[in-house]
Amino acid sequence: MRTNSISGTPKMPLSLYLSMVENLRSLKRFALVNQQVKDGFVFFNDVAGIKRLQELLNYHNTGEKPSEMTIKGNKLVNDSKYDLNIFQNKDMLMSVRGPDGRGWYKSRCPVCEYKGGDTEHDHFGFTEEGPFHCLAGCAPRDVIEWFKAMLNDREPNFDRSKDTPEDIKEFFKEEQV
Ligand SMILES: [Zn+2]
Repeated sequence: MRTNSISGTPKMPLSLYLSMVENLRSLKRFALVNQQVKDGFVFFNDVAGIKRLQELLNYHNTGEKPSEMTIKGNKLVNDSKYDLNIFQNKDMLMSVRGPDGRGWYKSRCPVCEYKGGDTEHDHFGFTEEGPFHCLAGCAPRDVIEWFKAMLNDREPNFDRSKDTPEDIKEFFKEEQV
């Protein structure tokens, strides 16, 4: 495996990158939307990027899948928290329509839906930039948890009785983009 390097920034042809991450769709940090792409190349121009490149090469050479955990802002976080954007994952929602004049899309709230509610399909609002809300007052972290669960092919866990105050603080810190 060769990667080209110009002035110290490793890069890889886009087509090669796409073939290498083909089986890593559940890991958000390898999604193309989270890469630096220019002139047909993917660049790895920061510490996190170089770590991703190393993980990718290791995966290619040994078949060992990159970890579910990753570093973001000096913290170890679950990959599925990585830059989660509702808009980019809107295909997972029901009855999406919009945007209205102020940029808001509407859909059925996934958390209400999970609990059998929002039969009118109009509780959930979100924008391309990231803000979202549920008219019935579902907690933002429950919404995030639902997306994380779907992206990782598991059941969501809305039970927070075991969370410490630090867990909660940490969760919201990671959520803000
Ligand atoms: Zn809701």
